[in-house]
Amino acid sequence: MTLAPGKVAVIGAGQMGAGIAQVFAQAGHEAAVVDVAPAQLQKARSGIAASIEKLSAKGKLAEPPAQVLGRLRFEESLEACRSSQVVIEAAPESEPLKRDLFARLAKIVPADALVASNTSSISITRLGAAFGDAPRFLGIHFMNPVPLMALVEVIAGLATSEATVQRALSLVRELGKTPVLVRDAPGFVANRVLMPMINEAVGALAEGVSDAAGIDTIMKLGCGHPMGPLALADLIGLDTCLSILEVLHKEIGDPRYRPHPLLRRMIDAGRLGRKTGQGFFPYGA
Ligand code: NAD
Repeated sequence: MTLAPGKVAVIGAGQMGAGIAQVFAQAGHEAAVVDVAPAQLQKARSGIAASIEKLSAKGKLAEPPAQVLGRLRFEESLEACRSSQVVIEAAPESEPLKRDLFARLAKIVPADALVASNTSSISITRLGAAFGDAPRFLGIHFMNPVPLMALVEVIAGLATSEATVQRALSLVRELGKTPVLVRDAPGFVANRVLMPMINEAVGALAEGVSDAAGIDTIMKLGCGHPMGPLALADLIGLDTCLSILEVLHKEIGDPRYRPHPLLRRMIDAGRLGRKTGQGFFPYGA
C-alpha cells in the first residue's frame, strides 16, 4: 500500500511507539504520535532526534536528520487520528486500557483505515471485537529496538480479512522490515518462546545459581545470544514482561508460564529496567 502524507498515527509514545514512528518517518511517511503524557511526547521527540542523528553520523540516512524528524507531529489527543489511513497502537500492555482505546478510536478513524495493535501477547480477536470492525483490525508486532530489528510479526485475528492481512504485509515490507504471518494465540510466537526463558533466568537469579552478569554471560557466550535474558528483560521493561507472562499463564493455563515472584518484587521496587535507570542491571541517566 502507498500512504498519502499525514495519514499515519501511532498511539503511545513509549519506547515502541517512538521507534515505530521513527521507522515510518525514515520511510518517508508523515506520522502523528499520540500520548496522554506530555513528558513522554517530549522524551520520544528527543529520543528519535538522537537516534536519527546517530544513524546519520554512521551514513545510514539518505536525508538530513531534520527532514526526517519534520515528518512527525507530537499530539495529546486521539483527534489526531481523524484522517489516518493507518493507526498503530503501542500503549501499555493492558487489555482493559487497549479495549477502551480501540472503542474510542472506532468513533474517530476513517471507515477504511487499517487499525493495528503492537501488543506483545493480548488476543487480537478480542481487541478487534472491542474496536468493532474486526475485519480491518490485526496485530502488527514490531521488535525492540524498532529501527534496528528486521522482524515484524503480523497477527491475523479470527475475523481479520485477507485484504487487511495483505495490506499489512505490504506496509511492513514498505518499511524495509520482514513480516512473518502468525495466528492469534497467546504471546504469538516471539513472546511464547522468549518469555519462559526470561522467567527461568529470573528464577535462576532468585535461587542464587549465578549472579545477573553470570547468567547473561552464559547465555551470550554459551548459547550465542546477542544479549543475555536479564539485559533483554531490562530493555523490554519488567512491567511489560510481567504483563506478557500473566497473559500466557492465564490463557494457556500451564504453570510453566507463572511469573517468578522476583519479577513482581522488582516492579514493586520501581526497578522496571532501562526506562527507570535500574532493572537487573544499573543504567546511567
Ligand atoms: P511504554 O511503557 O514504554 O510506553 C507506553 C506509552 O503509552 C507511554 O508513553 C504512556 O504514556 C502511553 N499511554 C498510556 N495510556 C495511553 C493512552 N490511553 N493513550 C495514549 N498513550 C497512552 O511501553 P512500550 O514498551 O513502548 O510497549 C508498548 C506496547 O508495545 C505494549 O503493548 C507492549 O507489550 C508492546 N511491545 C513492547 C516491546 C518491548 O520490548 N518493550 C516489544 C514489542 C511490543
